[in-house]
Amino acid sequence: TTRIERHHYDVVVIGAGGAGLRAAIEARLAGKRTAIISKSLFGKAHTVMAEGGAAAAMGNVNSRDNWMVHFRDTMRGGKFLNNFRMAELHAKEAPERIWELETYGALFDRTKDGKISQRNFGGHEYPRLAHVGDRTGLELIRTLQQKIVSLQQEDFAETGNYDAKIRVFSETTITELLLEGDRIAGAFGYYRESGEFILLEAPAVVLATGGVGRSYKVTSNSWEYTGDGHALALRSGATLINMEFLQFHPTGMVWPPSVKGILVTESVRGDGGVLKNTDGKRFMFNYVPDVFRKQYAETEEEADRWYKDPDNNRRPPELLPRDEVARAINSEVKAGRGTKAGGVLLDIASRLPAEEVQRRPPSMYHQFKELADVDITKEPMEVGPTCHYVMGGVEVDPDSAAAFGRVEGLFAAGEVSGGMHGSNRLGGNSLSDLLVFGKRAGEHAAAYADALGKRPKVTTGDVERAVDAALAPLSRENGENPYTLQQDLQAVMGDLVGIIRREGELTDALKRLQELKLRVANVGAAGGRRYNPGWHLALDLRNMLIVSECTAKAALEREESRGGHTREDFPKMSPQWRLVNLVCSLDEAGDVHLERKPVPAMRTELIQLFERTELSKYMTDEELTEVE
Ligand code: FAD
Repeated sequence: TTRIERHHYDVVVIGAGGAGLRAAIEARLAGKRTAIISKSLFGKAHTVMAEGGAAAAMGNVNSRDNWMVHFRDTMRGGKFLNNFRMAELHAKEAPERIWELETYGALFDRTKDGKISQRNFGGHEYPRLAHVGDRTGLELIRTLQQKIVSLQQEDFAETGNYDAKIRVFSETTITELLLEGDRIAGAFGYYRESGEFILLEAPAVVLATGGVGRSYKVTSNSWEYTGDGHALALRSGATLINMEFLQFHPTGMVWPPSVKGILVTESVRGDGGVLKNTDGKRFMFNYVPDVFRKQYAETEEEADRWYKDPDNNRRPPELLPRDEVARAINSEVKAGRGTKAGGVLLDIASRLPAEEVQRRPPSMYHQFKELADVDITKEPMEVGPTCHYVMGGVEVDPDSAAAFGRVEGLFAAGEVSGGMHGSNRLGGNSLSDLLVFGKRAGEHAAAYADALGKRPKVTTGDVERAVDAALAPLSRENGENPYTLQQDLQAVMGDLVGIIRREGELTDALKRLQELKLRVANVGAAGGRRYNPGWHLALDLRNMLIVSECTAKAALEREESRGGHTREDFPKMSPQWRLVNLVCSLDEAGDVHLERKPVPAMRTELIQLFERTELSKYMTDEELTEVE
């Protein structure tokens, strides 16, 4: 028989990024025995990599900022497809969550008069990103971890055991959620180092597993981001929404190949960096769409004045939402005005004195010096779009973060959840999202566990099936190589379901994904269970595949262009399609299904925050009559 380590918890949080840690803290504060699981080392998550900052309308740098302005910007960024209630809660609660971090020991950069400083970022009307140099995510994680340690110390003082109420399982991958009927009963996985199995019985699970970028050829995401949480949710009966919307960050490194995809933070542009094509032209002025024309500068002179005097000038078009900038770069390169490696030039050298460039985004200076041997105080950076963030994710109740669909006891927060960002996320809105909805997920998971009478039980049959599925790749001697399969998948998604999409290519992608599905069912891994990355990837592949299928299916279905979904054959945004969410589920046979569901209608007092002329760019005539 196979040895399985068993544990019992009230709440199991899968993922130790910002959302997971914040959820775990809240569940523990509610008195629940809480486990935190992390696929990689504790402290290594995408959250750590976030540089720009966390958006919160504190109004410290411009007192005209408030939650209503933030709400408006978020809805505009998402092209009005956002779950309005999530955008509302996020805008209202983000400032409190940032302040709370300081009570846990974070120290944000300050304004001259001692307030938390806030910086400009794409799509945000006022300076709004609370930051710690360009290491904001690191400070966020450091602080949340510190809070967890302090809670463990309290528990030690009381019980003599640090792990009595909150325990971290790092380098542990969850491969299955276990249910009794439609209720969550636990989570099953393995320790990466030993390959030993672990079973955590618990009535409530919070998914906080982050993104899906590893299914793409060029991505800013690291190896862990294989859409595990998205797939776990689907397989347990929950639904995913908006999976066609992926954010391609406009500025990833394009050269050398070994670092292709690594992010060049948007604050380079917020601090004055401009985009130029190889003709030396600052091209973004040609790409301001009508819906944004009023908010962006028309001339270079006005744009340049904005950095010093934002109240009397409009912002530079380099700070348009990411999808706009990514598409513009794509078009320039396609038109033959890009670099050999397929990028454009991001110039800060000619804009700021060298000392300031080194001081402003310090890690950027080192990143280019060390990885590309480019001195950005003297030369422009070469940049191009990279797959960065998935707007789509687990369909949740906005207030409680509980997953929709058949399953009970499942919650989701952070990048793995969907709805909040609509068709496109604004920079800085993720870190605040993690805190706001991480807290809510932890709180409601705890309340769910409390309210439950009899706890659901894990069945022996389900555990055996989970073991068999996990071991299967090791027993296939002539199985397919997981690395080849991953490359093939990345090629399909990158080439056929990338930034610009077309019907024929999407149909082709779906056909190829079916072929890959058959090959993945026969994936093999040489070697044993002790630290075996080939085996781990073999297990991740089935997750990547069903999540990619959701993306491709939804991308084919949505016949319009909006935010992170651009159809060459349907280049316009359609008011009819704004009313539609595409919802993905799995049927009994494990096949992906897509369903159209209405987008929840915004409450009247929120609609009234917008001018009618603006609403008319997004809404149908029928909706506009109702607004009257
Ligand atoms: P993550 O921080 O991604 O953590 C996911 C966790 O889940 C990890 O611990 C992982 O190990 C674990 N996990 C995954 N699968 C499993 C499994 N099967 N079993 C167990 N554990 C699992 N956003 C901003 O707002 N501002 C920024 O400036 C910014 N900059 C960014 C820069 C970079 C380079 C990147 C990649 C992203 C950036 N983002 C930024 C986006 C933001 O960082 C992420 O969206 C956010 O951190 C996601 O947080 P999360 O808590 O949802 O998940």
